[in-house]
Amino acid sequence: MVLNCRHVWDRISDYIEGTLDPEVRADVERHLAHCEICSAVLDSTRNVIILMADDRVFELPVDFSKQLHARLDLVLAEEAPEPA
Ligand SMILES: [Zn+2]
Repeated sequence: MVLNCRHVWDRISDYIEGTLDPEVRADVERHLAHCEICSAVLDSTRNVIILMADDRVFELPVDFSKQLHARLDLVLAEEAPEPA
C-alpha cells in the first residue's frame, strides 16, 4: 500500500510507540525515506515525547492526539496543500 502524508500522520504515534503492524511500519518507513515533511513531523513528535519522558510524564494528555492532529492540519495547510 502506498501511503500519503495524511496516512503517515494518522499512524505516527503508533509508529513511534512501535505498535504498528510490521507491514504498515514498512509502508510508513518507505514514505518517510522520501518525504521531508513527514520526516520533520516524526522528529518533532519524537521530541515532544522525549520532553514528556524527561519530566517523568509517561501518560500523554487526553487531548494530545487531538492537538497533534490539529497541528498537522496546520502544517498541511501551510506546506502541503496536496499531499502526494
Ligand atoms: Zn509525507
